[in-house]
Amino acid sequence: MLRLHPMHPALPRLVELQRVDQRIAALRAEIDAFPKRLRDAGAKLSGAQKELAAAKEALTASLKERKTFEWDVEQWKERARKYRDQSGQVKTNEAYKALQHEIANAEAQALKAEDRVLEHLMSAEALERRVHDAEAALKDAEKVIAAERKQIEAEQAAHHKELEAALAEHEAALAPVPEELREKYLRVAQRHHGVALAEARDSQCRGCGMRVLPHIYQELGRAGDETVFTCETCGRILYVVEPPPAPPPSAPAASAGDAES
Ligand SMILES: [Zn+2]
Repeated sequence: MLRLHPMHPALPRLVELQRVDQRIAALRAEIDAFPKRLRDAGAKLSGAQKELAAAKEALTASLKERKTFEWDVEQWKERARKYRDQSGQVKTNEAYKALQHEIANAEAQALKAEDRVLEHLMSAEALERRVHDAEAALKDAEKVIAAERKQIEAEQAAHHKELEAALAEHEAALAPVPEELREKYLRVAQRHHGVALAEARDSQCRGCGMRVLPHIYQELGRAGDETVFTCETCGRILYVVEPPPAPPPSAPAASAGDAES
């Protein structure tokens, strides 16, 4: 833990309280993010589900089309058969020629439709593979997402537990703080996103970066002081970790070389 320079006896409590409160805020933010994380995990599954639905739809459409062409093949063959039957009964050469032309055309159409049937038969293999792959991918995704969900839920439970502990720590840290200081802490914390305290270092408030008045900075360093000082600029409660260096003697000579090691 932080070793603080002697100061108001309640200040170390407040420093501890702030640490706990920041942890509480972080935990709450993470807890708030869990529903979205669960939703995101679920969304990954819907991608795999969509692909499977699309693959099945493509296969069904192809089968349907194939049936139509198969029917066409039968129709054209039937027609060619009829014309052939008729060709024995025609009287003129012209009519016979016309019938031959019709037969050739019907046979050509039947072949064309057969080609389309064949195309669909061949693509069916690829489409069936796509369905099969999509089913496997969905199964995999379900496994991965179930594990992810479990992980998130375990984290969620752990976070709730940690939050409970932190809230108890908050109460414990707050209890010995005098009422007046407690109110001040809560008031300032509310104004600064939960950060009521700021370290004063190198004559500076670390909360807002502004200068701490020299006499206050010196006061902060005095052992056993019972006064609580706040930053003139941001209002945060100041504490020191390192005692400030003693004020320079009247001579302003800044030979810093041997001041500190
Ligand atoms: Zn400040």
